[in-house]
Amino acid sequence: MDASSSSSISSKRNVEFQPENPCYFGLPSRVRTSRTKDNPGKKFRLCPKSMNEGPKCKFWEWLEPETPDNEVSSGKDKKEQWNLTLKICTLENQISIYKMKMEQENLVVRQELEKIKWKLFTHKVLMIALFLLFVFKK
Ligand SMILES: [Zn+2]
Repeated sequence: MDASSSSSISSKRNVEFQPENPCYFGLPSRVRTSRTKDNPGKKFRLCPKSMNEGPKCKFWEWLEPETPDNEVSSGKDKKEQWNLTLKICTLENQISIYKMKMEQENLVVRQELEKIKWKLFTHKVLMIALFLLFVFKK
């Protein structure tokens, strides 16, 4: 009795409970370290009752690799920055496409304008010619 209680006290020192990651029953999950061949030393959390006898839920998941908060946030920032860069690139591409379209349209408009000017000029010449013809016929 004495030996078992003292060993449970010494093991409790290393037990890490995570109230922010509760098990399916809302109990603070318990962090343990894997000792399997495939994942040696990898930490996972599980139902705190998993070591006890009796009913327990099957809550179990790997802990995310421990990264300092600022590193995580900088990673997020980098992702956001990358997303923004991508958006800006897309927008710049769109703008250049619109510019090209506008220039093409401008060219078409200018060509149309030149055609109209030319038509106007020929009509004027024709009118003058007709006017002169009319005058000289008299
Ligand atoms: Zn549980």
